[in-house]
Amino acid sequence: DSKRAGKNQLSFYNMEMQEQALLSIRLEEELRQAICRREFFLVFQPIISFSSGQVEKFEALLRWHQPERGIQSPGSFIGVAELTGLIVPIGYGVIEAACHFIRQQMQAGKTVKPVAVNLSVCQLREADFSNRVEALLMHWDIPPGLLELEITESMLMENVDLAMTLIGHLKRLGIRLSIDDFGTGYSSLSQLRHFPVDILKIDRSFVMDLEASPVDRQMVEAITAMVHKLGLKVVAEGIETDAQMRFIKKIGCDYGQGFLFARPLPPEQALQYTGYAGLALSEHTTHDDKLG
Ligand code: C2E
Ligand code: MG
Ligand code: MG
Ligand code: MG
Repeated sequence: DSKRAGKNQLSFYNMEMQEQALLSIRLEEELRQAICRREFFLVFQPIISFSSGQVEKFEALLRWHQPERGIQSPGSFIGVAELTGLIVPIGYGVIEAACHFIRQQMQAGKTVKPVAVNLSVCQLREADFSNRVEALLMHWDIPPGLLELEITESMLMENVDLAMTLIGHLKRLGIRLSIDDFGTGYSSLSQLRHFPVDILKIDRSFVMDLEASPVDRQMVEAITAMVHKLGLKVVAEGIETDAQMRFIKKIGCDYGQGFLFARPLPPEQALQYTGYAGLALSEHTTHDDKLG
């Protein structure tokens, strides 16, 4: 009865696809409502300087308080938000909320740390994107150097001309730019020198396996050395263990981000975060370093 089984399988597949389509349509509707109802908010993850253990800057990460399903991470909705273009209005909201957090820091009276915001490819395609960002910065009276925009490596490589133009505009405004998730796309390091970016973020997938994978250790070390030659700073993403942190610090990476230092935090907690004490400590650690 393989024919029947095959047929059943086919209709099951169709049903699944239909269900998927319906779910996407419902999600799109929910996202539209979420914009009106202001259900989006930001959490801020500290990025730590290895030389001081202090916060170098924060990355703003989007969250959605969905009334029935609770707090949602971008993984569950960003795809549909991008397909429908809803990420464009959501994205302006993100930049505005990042500006608001910068103002909160100013009011707290401490040294203000820059805030990095993630961009989607749809935002790259917005003709007046840089003008609108400039207007937002002026409206909130924020020095452009306090805003950093993150563009993923693959976004950059699949839209070289668009990205190049936009990066030029943003740089002229004084906004900082970084390449996110580096190592997951197909760019060569030599292509990087054409982009006037300031920072490169090594993807978490390299950091994750440092302990088990000598190749990843060599990759991270080589990327860091090369990127430094280009005059850029390097952030390692997704540091979760002390061993990972010590290796990354040892090879000269500038900054680290990961659960070891801090999870993404609500603004009030992010303002309280004072840095990572374990860094100064590990400097004097002499026992066997597993990652050599
Ligand atoms: P990303 O830009 O690479 O951000 C880092 C992600 O890694 C965040 O996930 C963060 O919570 C997570 N992370 C940080 N440290 C660790 C760690 O030590 N271990 C592990 N396992 N994970 C860690 P999140 O917040 O779920 O965001 C996922 C992705 O969604 C982001 O990846 C970014 O590409 C996208 N995203 C987030 N916020 C926005 C936004 O406002 N706009 C756009 N367009 N995309 C966003
Ligand atoms: Mg990012
Ligand atoms: Mg990343
Ligand atoms: Mg990522």
